[in-house]
Amino acid sequence: MSVKDRWDIRGQPAAVHMLRNALRTGRLAHAYLFVGPKGVGKATTAEMVAAGVVCEAGDPAQRPCGECPACVDVAARRHVDVFWVEPEGDKILIDQVRALQQRAMLKAVRGRCKVFLVEAVDTATEQAQNALLKVLEEPPGETVLILIAHNETPLLPTIVSRCVVVRFGPLPKDVAAGILRERFGYGDAAELGAALGDGSIEAATRLSPEELLQRRRAALDFFAELRRSDITAAPRLAESWNKRRDELVEMLDILQIWLRDVLLVQHRPDALREPETWLVNVDLKDELERWAAAMAPDAVLAALEHVLAFRRRLADNVGLRSLVDVLFVDLAACGRPVVA
Ligand SMILES: [Zn+2]
Repeated sequence: MSVKDRWDIRGQPAAVHMLRNALRTGRLAHAYLFVGPKGVGKATTAEMVAAGVVCEAGDPAQRPCGECPACVDVAARRHVDVFWVEPEGDKILIDQVRALQQRAMLKAVRGRCKVFLVEAVDTATEQAQNALLKVLEEPPGETVLILIAHNETPLLPTIVSRCVVVRFGPLPKDVAAGILRERFGYGDAAELGAALGDGSIEAATRLSPEELLQRRRAALDFFAELRRSDITAAPRLAESWNKRRDELVEMLDILQIWLRDVLLVQHRPDALREPETWLVNVDLKDELERWAAAMAPDAVLAALEHVLAFRRRLADNVGLRSLVDVLFVDLAACGRPVVA
């Protein structure tokens, strides 16, 4: 992917429009706070703004051009006037902010302006935040500071109030799927990855495309086995799952997405005609159609409800073992095919 494509940030139109406009008109603020969930483009947008500041393109409207040596160096995180601060261990520490402060006093090396980007600033210790506040109170000349956070609650209100706050939302599913397909090579797994990632590319790419497709196959085979087996076999099947909580939750997420697709196929005639619009599991259209024909709509709904109820009880910290037993018996019962 070219640097220029990388900065064609999708799914955050308001934030990107505002920042590009500020770059074009030379009206960047001294300090920004980017707030939003993981994996929705905050760091890439911060990088784009940093590049816009140091880009060597003659026409401000073209910055960042993505092609000049400055842009290329920013993308490779080796530009001498662009500093990234990342948590050490799991926190931003006071020494890191002091180092930032000292560098901020120095003149830019290649251009006129320096950019400081602080990732996960919401992890900064109290001392680190106080030091950061000093930087914000007396901004050194010709610097832009971009703070990046999931959440502004842990931050001193005085830090937040000194920044222009830019909010990033979860990515719409179709945007996330497009990014996964075009930039990460997810192919047939793009929709499923986007659905499981819930608007976050970071969450979506936790599993490789191959892993995603394998897990889906395993989830469908497992559900089919439950439906086929005698109900009394459910507790035996539950046995192997009651110590694998994360794996089970992931399987249920996949199953939930699948059952929702089955329900759509049953209730919306256009779901199969325009699968891209309606379905997540577009690549398994035929199999969806078979499931839709084999299961009563009530059974699909009941299965979905059992999965959702399980998730709610799990959140209430009810013991996993008894929950899995109940879930599997319920799923086995409601998943009986209409024609036995
Ligand atoms: Zn450039």
